[in-house]
Amino acid sequence: MDSHKSELANRSEATVTVPGTSDRPGGRQIPNPKSQIPLAVILFGSPGSGKGTQSKLLAKSLGIPQISTGDMLRAHIRQGNAVGTAVEEKLKAGNLVKDEVVNALVEKCLEKPDAARGCILDGYPRTRAQAEALCGMLQRRGIDELVIHLVVDYNVIIARLTGRRQCPVCGTLYNVISKPPKVPGVCDLEGAKLIIREDDREDVIRHRLEAYETQTRPLIDYFREKGKRLYEIDASHDPPEAVFQKIEGLIRKQ
Ligand code: ADP
Repeated sequence: MDSHKSELANRSEATVTVPGTSDRPGGRQIPNPKSQIPLAVILFGSPGSGKGTQSKLLAKSLGIPQISTGDMLRAHIRQGNAVGTAVEEKLKAGNLVKDEVVNALVEKCLEKPDAARGCILDGYPRTRAQAEALCGMLQRRGIDELVIHLVVDYNVIIARLTGRRQCPVCGTLYNVISKPPKVPGVCDLEGAKLIIREDDREDVIRHRLEAYETQTRPLIDYFREKGKRLYEIDASHDPPEAVFQKIEGLIRKQ
């Protein structure tokens, strides 16, 4: 047994809390994970693989924060602040923003007390420099990583991204084919008019997929080289709830 596995084997049974749990009256407590070491779950996959949907479900179920660099960058753009102005053109064109910018955003999130129990990372890391920075940030805080690669067929990705609509208020994602809102073009929860993300245009989608292939996909080898726990999940055809069950099951086995 290598040192990593024996370290895992030595960990004792622990609990993870879900919203309304042990630290709140009347809550429930779910057994898991076996480790007492907090876990950063890296949801890895191409644009349109379902990282955003899954990370929201997981964050809610595990009671740990979702850290989405894409959502944070879009929030800065909406606010029109210095970060937003600096990154706006990159997002519009489907190019990655500078590593220093996203690393700083993530570090700020990890500094918050709620992240000490772990987090779900959505859309980060996307380059080797980001992966190295993240490993350092987590190591300093005594947080372990678990990488979950959502594998999705290329044609499914194109269909998902071109049909995607989002609520500008709560961020809920819809798809005109697979997950339409009750009233076309209107958010079920907020009643707000749904928007098409500017980077969901077909030419920009192609660009985002290229950026994924050249800069992000090679990180799988990086994670392997570094001996990180890495699991692949086929997320092409199952509904989001079924994919979620698979991921949650994996996390609970750690
Ligand atoms: P998707 O995974 O569907 O591309 P995201 O919301 O994760 O959607 O990202 C949207 C855009 O935000 C990316 O195309 C890129 O411009 C920027 N972005 C998000 N996360 C990162 C990151 N970790 N590094 C660099 N750019 C990022």
